[in-house]
Amino acid sequence: MLEAANINKSFDGTQVLNNISLEVDTGKILCIVGPSGAGKTTLLRIITGLEKADTGQFKIDGKAFDPESNTTNEAMIGVVFQDFRLFPHLNVLENITLAPQLALHQSKAEANAKAKEILTQLGLEDKADIYPFQLSGGQKQRVAIARALALNPKILCYDEPTSALDPGLRESVAQLIERLKAQGMTQIVVTHDMEFAQNIADKILTVKPNREA
Ligand code: ATP
Repeated sequence: MLEAANINKSFDGTQVLNNISLEVDTGKILCIVGPSGAGKTTLLRIITGLEKADTGQFKIDGKAFDPESNTTNEAMIGVVFQDFRLFPHLNVLENITLAPQLALHQSKAEANAKAKEILTQLGLEDKADIYPFQLSGGQKQRVAIARALALNPKILCYDEPTSALDPGLRESVAQLIERLKAQGMTQIVVTHDMEFAQNIADKILTVKPNREA
């Protein structure tokens, strides 16, 4: 379970997040929704340690957790970026196995075996040797998810997982998120797509723009 309380964040004197608290139970899906500019991505970046909150307390499974310690070494919380951020010069297998070898000190054979297992699970077993430019948008996203999963996170976060995809692929992303949920993965999804959120969420947090700012 992830608990975050009293998160405040300002940029250059303008308050973006005003005392936000949230909880996600293990194996559940929290969707963070709200209008453009409300601070959804900032909140996700804070939870994943990519941005520092001005104030905030964080716990995972009841234990205090400092998101800044969420480096690839100890990736308690994985993240799938809106633009996927695959390494263009590495093939799919190398994209997935680089961090486990560098950060988790897995051997190449061990990292490859685990990556192939994840690729099979995500229906990408025949894509291991090709490069990101040879993949469709939906396939790139699944590789990005595979890369995050290879670090054994307790929680997986997504920033706008439907926005870079054709509308027809919305359903397949929803199915994949549901499948990971069935395996017990705790997931946090930032989206402006209310219908998508209502389809997959166990809980919805609405972040409102801070009008006083
Ligand atoms: P969208 O749905 O359009 O992606 P969002 O709800 O995710 O929006 P954020 O990207 O979190 O919103 O941005 C919230 C506000 O914080 C915006 O006004 C943005 O300009 C500001 N902001 C975000 N990051 C920074 C930064 N590094 N420096 C200064 N201002 C920032």
